[in-house]
Amino acid sequence: MNNFEFSRASDVADAIRQIAADPDAKFVAGGTNLIDLIKEGVARPSRLIDITRLPLNRIDETPEGGLRIGALVPNSDLAYHPQIESRYPLLRSAILAGASPQLRNMASTAGNLLQRTRCFYFYDTTTPCNKREPGSGCSAIDGFNRMHAILGTSEHCIATHPSDMCVALAALDARVLAMGRGGERAVAFGDFHRLPGDTPQRDTNLRDDEIITAIELPANGFSTNYSYLKIRDRLSYAFALVAVAAALDLDNGVVREARLALGGVAHKPWRDRDVEAQLRGAPANRENFALAADALLRDARGFGNNDFKIELARRAIVRALTQAAKATPQSQADKRIR
Ligand SMILES: Cc1cc2nc3c(=O)[nH]c(=O)nc-3n(C[C@H](O)[C@H](O)[C@H](O)COP(=O)(O)OP(=O)(O)OC[C@H]3O[C@@H](n4cnc5c(N)ncnc54)[C@H](O)[C@@H]3O)c2cc1C
Ligand code: SF4
Repeated sequence: MNNFEFSRASDVADAIRQIAADPDAKFVAGGTNLIDLIKEGVARPSRLIDITRLPLNRIDETPEGGLRIGALVPNSDLAYHPQIESRYPLLRSAILAGASPQLRNMASTAGNLLQRTRCFYFYDTTTPCNKREPGSGCSAIDGFNRMHAILGTSEHCIATHPSDMCVALAALDARVLAMGRGGERAVAFGDFHRLPGDTPQRDTNLRDDEIITAIELPANGFSTNYSYLKIRDRLSYAFALVAVAAALDLDNGVVREARLALGGVAHKPWRDRDVEAQLRGAPANRENFALAADALLRDARGFGNNDFKIELARRAIVRALTQAAKATPQSQADKRIR
């Protein structure tokens, strides 16, 4: 049995004080990932700091015309918020493609960002895993790696980040607001999650004394030409093999601006700004989307069981961009199927 302390943060300053005082403590929000990790013996926090009563559950407009989403806003409330439905349907689609209604009711915005990989070996404490136990080795590289990464891998870890919501947030250029002993700072979404390199135990650049307070969305939600396409083994309640968040701003069939982020393929939501630049000014057609997919996947590498993901990603990118260009997002296609 692992003993741990339990305390409740009275305000954000108290939460920072408590986490800074104990490097082995963890915040708990919805608990849908952390409690599983504790039960499996993967996480062994010395203290759980309950942050669920902090006033971080509001969605407010920002002076710049975007939205500020509190860290504790449940995934369901976020997906069904009128402003998200009308202005950021890409984010809504991504959230609703994840988990189950019950889980989305519990899961928080910040917890979704900080959920840990679904690599089987990470959860199996009888096997080597550099992420769980640095220096022990990676069982997945020569093991069962069907779900694993094809981009940005290292010889130390080939895990993927499992979130759907984060793929849309990456495409939308969100910012993560974090508060620590040094005050509040904003981190561009692309700089928040890390590639594994030689420190796969670190998923993000959040500092040890920091709490996420909010996510900020810029004004442009690409609400007309977008699609979130998630390819998985079952239609619901399964993590992505490959997911694509595509958003376009079109001018008479020509791409004025493109956003393309992939999930299920890397240790972080994968975004390639060179590929987005390549699409800018090009006619929004299948040929250019295929060229973009080839460019994005130029350095992709499989590890045996997951080789199929490279072709799957190529096709998914073309399909998602085509759906976005036609303003027939995958979520609408789902509705028609039902
Ligand atoms: C069966 C199952 C299926 C799922 N399927 C999907 C899926 O298909 N797609 C998908 O995207 N997700 C899926 N999920 C994951 C789910 O979305 C996450 O578990 C959830 O978002 C985590 O949020 P939480 O509030 O419960 O986090 P918690 O479990 O409470 O915390 C997770 C981590 O975040 C930290 N944390 C929480 N809040 C803060 C904060 N404000 N500041 C700093 N640190 C913080 C905690 O310390 C902990 O380390 C699934 C989960 C399960 C159990
Ligand atoms: S891929 Fe990463 S998480 Fe999975 S076994 Fe290897 S080191 Fe561990």
